[in-house]
Amino acid sequence: WSSETVAVVTGANRGIGFEIARQLASYGLHVIMASRDAERGRHVAEMLHNEGLNVISHQLDISDQISVESFSKWVVLNYGGIDILVNNAGINFNLGSENSIEFAEKVIETNYVGTKRIIETIIPVMKPSENGARILNVSSRLGRVNGRRNRLGDATLREKLLTDDHLSEELIDGMVADFLKQVRDGTWKANGWPQMFTDYSVSKLAVNAYTRFMSRLLSSRPEGHRIYINCYCPGWVKTAMTGWEGNLSAEEGADTGVWIVLLPNQSPTGKFFAERREISF
Ligand code: NDP
Repeated sequence: WSSETVAVVTGANRGIGFEIARQLASYGLHVIMASRDAERGRHVAEMLHNEGLNVISHQLDISDQISVESFSKWVVLNYGGIDILVNNAGINFNLGSENSIEFAEKVIETNYVGTKRIIETIIPVMKPSENGARILNVSSRLGRVNGRRNRLGDATLREKLLTDDHLSEELIDGMVADFLKQVRDGTWKANGWPQMFTDYSVSKLAVNAYTRFMSRLLSSRPEGHRIYINCYCPGWVKTAMTGWEGNLSAEEGADTGVWIVLLPNQSPTGKFFAERREISF
């Protein structure tokens, strides 16, 4: 990795995304701090720039197709492509309630559909490299299929999600569509969705499954054009999302993410990490 390495971090204007951007830049990479509010993005990039870090900001709202396309065009025009994409942008409206579904559409649209949208748009502009390009999805243990406290109730769906032969984009899209339909119908409670932070957990479950699916899809790319994709849980981190509760600082929460994307040579792919080790889906 060098100053020629271009990394994009989404939702980089605050919290864990800001820290991932700062740490990647402190390793000498050129970091594009993508932020949905251009002004806030400019402000944080200027802060890091004043510390001597090689960063720039650009507007990106992952839930807006036009913004995503114009971001990708700007990247190609200015850099010819990128080496690392960190999908950190996300939302959660569960502060103060354990399992709200009030904002389910918005949460799924941002956390899952938005992440998928930026991945699909950016893959064609990822640069060929010996190290392999890298995609990292910032996810959550709340989205584990067999999570200790938040297990998906539907055993058939659990098995399908964990079996490579069954895992497909249609399966994941179908799962979130079923969930949203049940939210609209008011029938979701009886159907075994995660008990805690329900809509957020479903969105991260989908991100995790999509990470494994994409890893398989990308595995046929030839040497020199490899793209490795993984996801990780930063832990319980004191940010605006948690109302500043948690047992980790944003700096600590960013650590595993930065470690994965900077692993030298052959990176793992299609894996889930926390605290610098692999964990199960
Ligand atoms: P914050 O709320 O502090 O930061 C979220 C960031 O995402 C903000 O920069 C926000 O922008 C941005 N964002 C939200 N929606 C969009 C969008 N449509 N387009 C672009 N950017 C968007 O939360 P965290 O730093 O805690 O969260 C970062 C990631 O870590 C999330 O994916 C979250 O789910 C995940 N995570 C966090 C945990 C924690 O304990 N904090 C635990 C597990 C996972 P804006 O400032 O404009 O709102």
